[in-house]
Amino acid sequence: MCKKIKRVQIQPGCISCGTCEAVCPKVFLVKATAEVLPNADVQAHHELVREAADLCPVSVIQVEDED
Ligand code: SF4
Repeated sequence: MCKKIKRVQIQPGCISCGTCEAVCPKVFLVKATAEVLPNADVQAHHELVREAADLCPVSVIQVEDED
């Protein structure tokens, strides 16, 4: 079983491609750059969050796991 997600952050460098929102719109919103929605339930969508992080072309989605 994969680890629980503690936190998801967007590091500087997002190129606003829209992929993360397309993959997981319940967690990511792309405006000028991508944002994590304030009350997003990252745990409920953890598989899609990890997929979005994998697919981000500039690898700026940082997924922090619980210990
Ligand atoms: S996938 Fe990456 S580059 Fe594309 S909008 Fe999301 S954070 Fe930005």
